[in-house]
Amino acid sequence: ATLLQADPSTPIESLCLDGTWRAATSGSTFEVHDPATGSVLARVADAGGVDAEAAIEAAASAFPEWSARTAYERAAVLQNAHRLMLERAEDLARLMTSEQGKPLRAARTEVRYAADFMLWFAEEAKRVYGRTIPSARSDQRFIVMEQPVGVVGAITPWNYPISMITRKVAPALAAGCTVVLKPAEQTPLCAIAVFGILAEAGVPAGVANLITASDPKPVGEALLIHRSVAKLTFTGSTEVGKFLAARAADQMKRVSLELGGHAPFIVFPDADPVHAAKGAALVKLLNTGQACISPNRLYVHRSIADEFVDALRRRVESMKAGRGVDDGVSVGPLIDESAFIRMQNQVVDAVGKGATVVTGGNRLTGGGLDGGWFFAPTVVTGVTPEMVMYREETFGPIAPVVTFESEAEVIEMANDTRYGLASYVYTKDLARALRTAEALRFGMVGINDINPTSAAAPFGGMGESGLGREGAQEGIREYLETKLVGLSI
Ligand code: ADP
Repeated sequence: ATLLQADPSTPIESLCLDGTWRAATSGSTFEVHDPATGSVLARVADAGGVDAEAAIEAAASAFPEWSARTAYERAAVLQNAHRLMLERAEDLARLMTSEQGKPLRAARTEVRYAADFMLWFAEEAKRVYGRTIPSARSDQRFIVMEQPVGVVGAITPWNYPISMITRKVAPALAAGCTVVLKPAEQTPLCAIAVFGILAEAGVPAGVANLITASDPKPVGEALLIHRSVAKLTFTGSTEVGKFLAARAADQMKRVSLELGGHAPFIVFPDADPVHAAKGAALVKLLNTGQACISPNRLYVHRSIADEFVDALRRRVESMKAGRGVDDGVSVGPLIDESAFIRMQNQVVDAVGKGATVVTGGNRLTGGGLDGGWFFAPTVVTGVTPEMVMYREETFGPIAPVVTFESEAEVIEMANDTRYGLASYVYTKDLARALRTAEALRFGMVGINDINPTSAAAPFGGMGESGLGREGAQEGIREYLETKLVGLSI
């Protein structure tokens, strides 16, 4: 709330370097906007490579002391952060809605999800087990140790501006790593709020450093070339993820990547088409479709397609689009104009190739919406593989419907993508559910379930959707190196 009350003409000293809040060395600043209105919310520090280097050096200096603390000590700090996040949940949610646009209810849900990572990894910190391995030699012992990887560079996106930070920073700190985080240029305020909480929770100076910047490249470059950065963890587009992974290979830095998705949503003929349509509408319009787990191809069996599309249309039309702060709104604005142009282009392309817009397809204006990029929740039928939306991530509120005939055919179609993050299946047939779950090449399969995410469950993708997993036991492993000790006795 205090961040929102700040006078936008007085820049926020938003770089958290070695425990001190600072302006950029260059003195540059950039504006943060409310995507629902276009108004300026604040100005923050616009860091460059020099600031990023200072942050990396602070993190490197803080590493020996932080990693030497016991897991119990680190867990206590994360528990404080969990408590503080919950105490400030309403302020954090309002800040998120202002800066990112999502409806308040969704922002509150995200804050709770984000806080969950603090608690989950506080607990996991205590369960970083090594092991002993029997040797074939009687005079030898093998001990396997798990140690923190070192300084972590983290880059996060704007669509989940708090939980994408805690999903990386909490396990990194739990493991004993120190961190330099660069949040998305659209949502620095959420990051500032999280880092304020971390400091208050007792994270020592230099352990968690924040760099806000309007241009990600110089900061990214510093993280890539500095020898002290042992690991890069990134959530964002596949294009940028591939670029970072390729460059990280130069020093063989460790990488974790959560990239794009193109989720299939399969509705088998034995499913209830109305129930499935409800799930499809909810998960499709989650975060206005700006989620990497958003369904991008709705495969519906031909025998129930009409009923499904009708129910989907009714559902989608009943979900109110508007400013996230307003009551009853469940679909917020798109993040910016380029997102709107992508929606428009995908619809024009599909219609030009024979698809039908069942509902939506247009910008929403009037009623106070003119300052933002609001796109009507959209259902498109008759979508074919030649259309852009069938291949490329939509990342917006468009639901493309495709019909199918057989199980084998739909599995083949669903897997025919370079992505492999989330997938969804609706069926009442247990055997088919299991068969399908085994056959889908995706990191996550929701069966009659549109929310297969939790701090306790491994989140991540196959193929070009990324590398590694976040959350769960797997989530802390990403910040550990395995060391073997062979001992002659
Ligand atoms: P989106 O299309 O969702 O904005 P991006 O992959 O462009 O996805 O952005 C995700 C994060 O990656 C943001 O924090 C952004 O600033 C950062 N980013 C974008 N390009 C680069 C780059 N060349 N180097 C480092 N970080 C980058």
